[in-house]
Amino acid sequence: MKIAVVNYNAPEAVRVRKIMLKRLATAGFTYDQQHPDLVISIGGDGTLLSAFHMYEQVLDKVRFVGIHTGHLGFYTDWRNFELEDLIHSLQKDQGQAVSYPLLNITQRFSDGSTSQYVALNESTIQQKTRTMVCDVYLNNRLFEGFRGDGLCVSTPTGSTAYNKSVGGAVMDPTITGFQAAEMASINNRVFRSLGAPIILGKETKLTVRLHDDSDCIMTCDRQTLHWNRNEKHLADITYRVDDRRISFAKYRHTNFWDRVHESFIGDVQ
Ligand code: NAD
Repeated sequence: MKIAVVNYNAPEAVRVRKIMLKRLATAGFTYDQQHPDLVISIGGDGTLLSAFHMYEQVLDKVRFVGIHTGHLGFYTDWRNFELEDLIHSLQKDQGQAVSYPLLNITQRFSDGSTSQYVALNESTIQQKTRTMVCDVYLNNRLFEGFRGDGLCVSTPTGSTAYNKSVGGAVMDPTITGFQAAEMASINNRVFRSLGAPIILGKETKLTVRLHDDSDCIMTCDRQTLHWNRNEKHLADITYRVDDRRISFAKYRHTNFWDRVHESFIGDVQ
């Protein structure tokens, strides 16, 4: 098995990387950053998001493993003191995996060009200085007029991240779908949006048509999406379930709802 290692640039993650590389070599694994079968991320959820985007072109070929250098995260099943257990699991590997849906984002510009992105957590669209005004279409039919701070469109596994902070529902990742949550909507007689998060299936695409894109900021996970507004304006953005999925090596992949319970609820009396 060929293994790549991606780490957060902090002393503890660098230390764990060094030990991991040594142990992988003595256990007979091939270190290959270019064409890995397995990507080990060392750091937090943010590091795993970065590792995901480094290998987003080869998602059908790689599986991911997350080692957390702090508390357990949402995409990290291993702690920094469990490296020997992980090496043993790698030695017994039989290709077992658990996979989750991803979000496809297509920007269409006024000059007819398009850009595509894939998100593991979410994509947001916001207008910070003025209210964002847009029309929202479901499968090309006008659904609502939205006016507010913006929209957060998330994957099922991303539903516990930004989506949850803006009042979105936590979504079981065995559902192949995505979710759109409003960010501070202004509801009046002119702009009437649902005022509730919507969960959409794989047959539905959601399109956002901004009335003015001049101050708009779009994100895809931890990246900001840039384009030259002097040359082209955003005609619309379409979100749908991506054809690809992310796969994690399933040696000890924690149950999603146990993870939600541990992270947000803790001990119940
Ligand atoms: P980061 O890597 O420091 O992550 C920020 C926090 O989000 C961390 O505590 C991390 O564990 C948690 N997180 C990441 N993915 C998660 C998931 N799927 N479920 C639950 N928690 C998760 O920060 P960053 O690199 O700047 O951004 C990464 C993510 O941070 C974004 O994808 C977004 O979801 C989130 N974010 C949240 C808010 C908010 O809640 N107000 C604002 C901006 C970004």
